[in-house]
Amino acid sequence: MDHFLYRDGALYAEDVAIADIAAAVGTPFYVYSTATLERHFRLFDEALSGTEHLVCYAMKAASNQAILRTLAALGAGMDVVSGGEYARARAAGVPGDRIVFSGVGKTRAEIAQALTGGIRQFNLESEPEMRLLSEIASAMGQVVPVTIRVNPDVDAKTHAKISTGKSENKFGIPISRARAVYAEAAALPGIEVIGIDVHIGSQLTDLAPFEAAFLKVAELTETLRADGHDIRRLDLGGGLGIPYTRSNEAPPLPTDFGALIKRTVGHLGCEIEIEPGRLIVGNAGLLVSEAIYVKEGEDRQFLILDAAMNDLIRPAMYDAWHDIVPVIEPAPGAEQMAYDVVGPVCESGDTFAKGRMLPQIQAGDLVAFRSAGAYGAVMSSEYNTRPLIPEVLVKDDHFAVIRARPTFDEIISRDTIPAWL
Ligand SMILES: *Cc1c(COP(=O)(O)O)cnc(C)c1O
Repeated sequence: MDHFLYRDGALYAEDVAIADIAAAVGTPFYVYSTATLERHFRLFDEALSGTEHLVCYAMKAASNQAILRTLAALGAGMDVVSGGEYARARAAGVPGDRIVFSGVGKTRAEIAQALTGGIRQFNLESEPEMRLLSEIASAMGQVVPVTIRVNPDVDAKTHAKISTGKSENKFGIPISRARAVYAEAAALPGIEVIGIDVHIGSQLTDLAPFEAAFLKVAELTETLRADGHDIRRLDLGGGLGIPYTRSNEAPPLPTDFGALIKRTVGHLGCEIEIEPGRLIVGNAGLLVSEAIYVKEGEDRQFLILDAAMNDLIRPAMYDAWHDIVPVIEPAPGAEQMAYDVVGPVCESGDTFAKGRMLPQIQAGDLVAFRSAGAYGAVMSSEYNTRPLIPEVLVKDDHFAVIRARPTFDEIISRDTIPAWL
């Protein structure tokens, strides 16, 4: 559920008309709904009620300071995957003991940064990484809590580019080698092994792969305990999918996910962490764009928008579907026609949708891409020297620009000319 609805013939974000935001900030832009963000976070938090837990928002999905602050105020922890994200989380006021550090390639500098600033735990992904972390922590006089990410060799049945739990993926250690790796970790002086971590992929629309992975984690917990490890925290990752279109069957809800966790690992008495990203912010955001031209091709119509692949890469990168809706509500039963919806960038891959059925759109009309909150703004670039587009946050009947559109001068002045030129 989200808070982007038609009211009196126009699309609203909570109590703010999208057209009013467009008039104030110009197009294209991202807009997020506070009520939707809060609702989605609470659904996860409540799904784990009765169990000691922390919901760590996977901030790579959308990492604006205002979004982080909104969630942190509700008690969210953060799952970070880089030194930059760690710095963003701290700048948003998240204490170190609510930050978990994931990722396959943490550098020496990133490790030292998190040890200096404070960290809840590192989720380790390899033996060389655990040796390096132990060395750096020891040198700093620390013993840092860690979990080790296991790769359960489970098919997440999602897009190959966002599947992370098969043996051919780069993530985690093979679960078959876990006992040996945990034995070595337990002997390292700078780290304390406290748990197990797993994250099998993103945009999962079926609970079965989660169930398979969590059952493997439960079994491993008992094996490792029998080996003498004090396994007391399970980080079960993120990955729960969202409905990208209203016409498909809805994927499982956070409540179902929570119930599955309780059923598969609840008996172990571990503290639970989860790391949802997409489900918290995906349907809490729209990308709003203006039609520049409608162009007649040989056998098709192109709807050319002022947003492009550099603003929303998901269709080009993952063949992702986003519902596209006019900001002025179409009359009931209005005739639909097929459009190839494209952006102005000089690449044929700059195509948001092919043969998409939409009510008639004219130059100057506003359209909104639904479900654009996750992996939208954070993946954008300035390709074609198109400035990063603004992000706007709505709360009730007001809105604020939470990242301004840079000017051309700001973009150009980031380059520096060498002395010899
Ligand atoms: C990306 C990622 C997540 C979040 O995945 P979503 O599909 O957005 O919920 C969680 N944990 C880890 C380790 C990740 O890499």
